[in-house]
Amino acid sequence: MTESLNPSGSLFMVVAPSGAGKSTLVNALLAQEPTIKLSISYTTRQPRPGEEHGRQYYFTTVEDFLKRREAGEFLESAEVHGNYYGTSRLIIEKEMKAGRDVLLEIDWQGAQQVKKQFPSAVQVFILPPSIDALEERLKKRGQDEAHVITRRLLAAGGEIAHAPESEYVIINQEFATALSELTAIVKASRCRFAQQAARNASLFAQLGIHANPS
Ligand code: 5GP
Repeated sequence: MTESLNPSGSLFMVVAPSGAGKSTLVNALLAQEPTIKLSISYTTRQPRPGEEHGRQYYFTTVEDFLKRREAGEFLESAEVHGNYYGTSRLIIEKEMKAGRDVLLEIDWQGAQQVKKQFPSAVQVFILPPSIDALEERLKKRGQDEAHVITRRLLAAGGEIAHAPESEYVIINQEFATALSELTAIVKASRCRFAQQAARNASLFAQLGIHANPS
């Protein structure tokens, strides 16, 4: 798959340690920017209370996941906190061919794999305002058992160590500020030359603008 699949859309990757408030931020962004297509991943993790198959994730077995991975169905995949996660190549290709913006909520391992295939993908890292805040959010969420919370807290440092691989960093201290920063990143990304040129090809031709002026 090449970048030319997605001439006008942007591919966003939002990466964060568990408890940084990533999903809440992403959901608020999608409410404001409904044309962005959120990729629904496959996972072998058990659904949390309230989670539905096909909404937050496609929940599946380890056996099925490994079969799909073997068949090359994933654009990227990784083991995170003892479970497998993967992004469907087919779904992403379809959205990108249609020129839509696509957003992936993935971990750093997946982001690295995507970046190799799509160097122009925009990576945003969400940081908590402190380690204490991270722990508090994980506990308050009340959806995971104590040993799961401990495991995720221990893993947070490892995830955070990969923040420098992102183009953008948002510190999620004040929700409204973090959301407006995320929205600004999306809007700025859409104004990149390649995306604008693809979206407005006839205008650019009329104005005599060429991608590589000599
Ligand atoms: P959770 O179990 O809390 O929903 O997600 C745990 C971690 O897995 C998060 O860091 C999340 O971003 C990551 N994750 C979710 N879906 C994917 C995916 O498709 N690929 C990869 N590499 N990571 C994912």
